[in-house]
Amino acid sequence: MAATSDKSKPYFPLAGIAKDGWSNDDEATATCFCGTVQLKFPTHGPGLVDIFLCNCADCHKITASMFASNFVVKDTHLTHIRGKENLTTYSQSHTIQSGNVMTNSFCKTCGTLMYRVGLGFPGMSILRLGTVDDFTLMETKLRPRVEQFSKERAAWLCGKEGVEQAEGNYYV
Ligand SMILES: [Zn+2]
Ligand SMILES: [Zn+2]
Repeated sequence: MAATSDKSKPYFPLAGIAKDGWSNDDEATATCFCGTVQLKFPTHGPGLVDIFLCNCADCHKITASMFASNFVVKDTHLTHIRGKENLTTYSQSHTIQSGNVMTNSFCKTCGTLMYRVGLGFPGMSILRLGTVDDFTLMETKLRPRVEQFSKERAAWLCGKEGVEQAEGNYYV
């Protein structure tokens, strides 16, 4: 069996340029690849709303990958520690099943997609699990709870075991 990193405690691998990511009992940081943009978010409710995987065509394409790993944070609980002025946005509604415009905020320097906001999620931002600095959190407090658009998932990619599956959009 392949070795995995010890995630019984906070774990900050060399991932991008920033070395100042942190986590505590209530909050943690999410940083772009070049370190310019850093966010602070809550790791439990009420500020943390949900955690989900999404295989929709939009998430597939915009991550340049196969799916997106997302978590939803109330805007009232989300802090831009630095780099807000270095974010650029791209919005469109063409491929969104709900028809709602989704606005995506990227780091201008390194292209990391930090979060999306949409009419379907008023007052909330959808952050990316992959930007979280403490890799232990993806196994613990930020473990995905639901996987949506599983019918769009590549056949060679397994669904998340033990996670509620939704063929289409869970949230609409
Ligand atoms: Zn960056
Ligand atoms: Zn999606």
